[in-house]
Amino acid sequence: MVRKVNTFKGEGPLKNGIGTYRAGELYGIIKISEANCVGCHTCSGVCPTGAIKGSFGDKHSIDVEKCIVCGQCLLNCPFGAVEQMSFVDMVYEKLKDKKTKVVAIIAPAVRVAIGEEFGAEPGTLTVGRLWAALEKAGFLIYDNNFAADQTILEEGTELLAKVAAHAGLKELPIELWGKKITLHVEEFKKYPLPQFTSCCPAWVRYVEVFYPRLIPYLSSAKSPQQMAGATAKTYGARLWNVRPENIFTVGVMPCTAKIFEASRPEFDSASKYLKKQGMKDVDTVLTTRDLAELLKKMNIDPMKMSEEVSRKPEMFKFYSGGATIFGTSGGVMEAAVRFAFHVLSGQSPQSMSPQWDFDGVRGYTKPVASATIPVPLKEEYQKVFGAKELQIKVCVVNGIGTDGAHLKPIVDEVLTGKSPYHFIEVMNCPGGCINGGGQPVHPLELTLWDQLFYAFSKII
Ligand code: SF4
Ligand code: SF4
Ligand code: SF4
Repeated sequence: MVRKVNTFKGEGPLKNGIGTYRAGELYGIIKISEANCVGCHTCSGVCPTGAIKGSFGDKHSIDVEKCIVCGQCLLNCPFGAVEQMSFVDMVYEKLKDKKTKVVAIIAPAVRVAIGEEFGAEPGTLTVGRLWAALEKAGFLIYDNNFAADQTILEEGTELLAKVAAHAGLKELPIELWGKKITLHVEEFKKYPLPQFTSCCPAWVRYVEVFYPRLIPYLSSAKSPQQMAGATAKTYGARLWNVRPENIFTVGVMPCTAKIFEASRPEFDSASKYLKKQGMKDVDTVLTTRDLAELLKKMNIDPMKMSEEVSRKPEMFKFYSGGATIFGTSGGVMEAAVRFAFHVLSGQSPQSMSPQWDFDGVRGYTKPVASATIPVPLKEEYQKVFGAKELQIKVCVVNGIGTDGAHLKPIVDEVLTGKSPYHFIEVMNCPGGCINGGGQPVHPLELTLWDQLFYAFSKII
């Protein structure tokens, strides 16, 4: 049983920048309905940025300048007073337009949650039937797990290059799938360590608004959603034999901040690459809840479809286990560590081998997890690094925490030059994207006090 979340249509991207927003970005994606807010103050207790205004008993509101669009207030409001901007109608119209190919970019955390909207138990895995439902609705599929693998190749290589550059190397030879490449790493010396992950758009906006000095520490890799959008409109267009301007890309995300991310003006790589003006890499985003609404509107129930998936890998539909764990706190870190371990040790993952389970970085049981990963170096690297083993020090921040509580000590270490880490993952939502602001919402059990408070607020 899930609770309906109220949505509203947006006014479109900003024509001119306002405060912490630039021209082209969406503004006010999350808002509090004055009519439904009872002033219980629960939302303020989960907001990572202190963006919520109002004292106990008052109507609350959001300071959009400070809001990072994470949707945690929406998930946790017991009275359904927090609302989200929705693009369901826009996608519905695009699907009806014969000349447009609509591509669904499906994030890992959606497939374990969408079933709930159709009466399944929480956590029911829905891969084949979700693909089938989307294809029945008229979408082409670009699984975001495929793009998560792209992200790890970029982000993992960038990390290796920075570690090598800070160890004093000019070049680092690496071998991937039998191909030898020489990375020219010297220029990476100007980028400081530790490297922070950049795939959580709420965290990226947090850095921009509250810690701009951290910007040089962020990985330059785009998030999987944005890599998928750019690739779909370039290589995908060729593969599907469709004109890029006739492709409409839709992120299907567990996340409300992804709605904001897609609107960021720098994400027009396909447009630049193809020298065609006016194309966004990702045209719009549906949350898990929005997708359920769309499928219900089209009378499509994924739970009535077959879960079987073709064993033959299809383009944009195959991926590694490392990509799947992006959906949970510590997952991006573990995928990156697996990549670095593979490159530096020359060892390949054995199926189910515990050697590839880096439990120490699985962050979902505590606010901050840290680990030192000993990586045995293959012979050529032993000469390069002058050691038999490299110790990679990593940290996972599992949710920024109320008013940044989990994050602050980690950031303070970085800004004072005392951080012991090479790589830090930050995901805004506690537990990671499986608990994102776009996921199904369950009605909370209201205590007698809540019910009395609610009844009272309606008569004053
Ligand atoms: S009713 Fe919802 S929006 Fe209003 S104060 Fe409580 S949690 Fe916040
Ligand atoms: S919880 Fe997130 S979405 Fe809600 S006001 Fe705070 S920053 Fe904005
Ligand atoms: S943790 Fe995931 S769901 Fe939450 S804001 Fe970041 S990307 Fe979105």
